[in-house]
Amino acid sequence: MIHVDSIYKIEDPRFRALIQPSAQLRKLATGFEWTEGPVWFADHQLLLFSDIPSERIMRLTVDDQLSVFRRPSDYINGNTSDRAGRLVSCQHGTRSVTRTEPNGSRTVIADSYKGKRLNSPNDVVVQSNGAIWFTDPTYGILSDYEGYKAEPEQEAHNVFRVEPQTGELEAMITDFVQPNGLAFSPDERTLYVAESGSSHNAEVPSVIRAFDLDEEGHIRRDRVFASIDKGLPDGMRVDADGNLWSSAADGIHCFHPDGTRLGKILVPETVANLCFGGPRGNRIFITATTSVYSIAVCTRSAV
Ligand code: MG
Repeated sequence: MIHVDSIYKIEDPRFRALIQPSAQLRKLATGFEWTEGPVWFADHQLLLFSDIPSERIMRLTVDDQLSVFRRPSDYINGNTSDRAGRLVSCQHGTRSVTRTEPNGSRTVIADSYKGKRLNSPNDVVVQSNGAIWFTDPTYGILSDYEGYKAEPEQEAHNVFRVEPQTGELEAMITDFVQPNGLAFSPDERTLYVAESGSSHNAEVPSVIRAFDLDEEGHIRRDRVFASIDKGLPDGMRVDADGNLWSSAADGIHCFHPDGTRLGKILVPETVANLCFGGPRGNRIFITATTSVYSIAVCTRSAV
């Protein structure tokens, strides 16, 4: 079954329960170079997102007021919020992951591994126990466009985990070409990681891999969860029912936890990332190339 209208491509009847047919895809702001890293702060009722090449983080309030939150931003890419409501960011410019404290100061969470600088942390997620997971591809050091050109010091492009008590960094997954977005299932027993290596090598499959974790947080099994048929997967989020919503060239692809693609929300610009938010948590904010969009859905974030 395939139904196409201006916004939705419904490929499985289960998708109908997740979308609001009359909802509008609203372009909230535009005129940026490359938007990424959306994160919603419920306490403040606002969205932050990165405009990476312009080296700034933008702030968008619930009544659509746009302003600069931080400039220069050290070429921040992915952002998330930890369980205390603090901003956690991946900084290409300093090749680090940082946390912004309530007083505005920044704490470096990770900037090296085995005595060598990280590549350019891309996207980050925080578990309920405080463990911070992030990806470390090389996009931010390939040129001066969204960071500072440099030779990689790391042997691999890893998925790292920062141990919550000790702050120790551990390479958990070491076999990606370019690991990018990452998200946990609601029970945190499955970690999804996007492979975006096709950006520079067409031989690399555009897939989302799923990693099953044991109770200690160690990876036990690895499988290909889904493929992206238009462009590549970058940022991703999981909703409260465990459905995975991934960025793609033609919009957002929604996958059931069993890996079936349920449908798409079609967006007129290439999508880099998304997050759930809004006053009731039932909106998806979409960073798509030069613009930020939102659309109401019939689900909300897993956390
Ligand atoms: Mg990314």
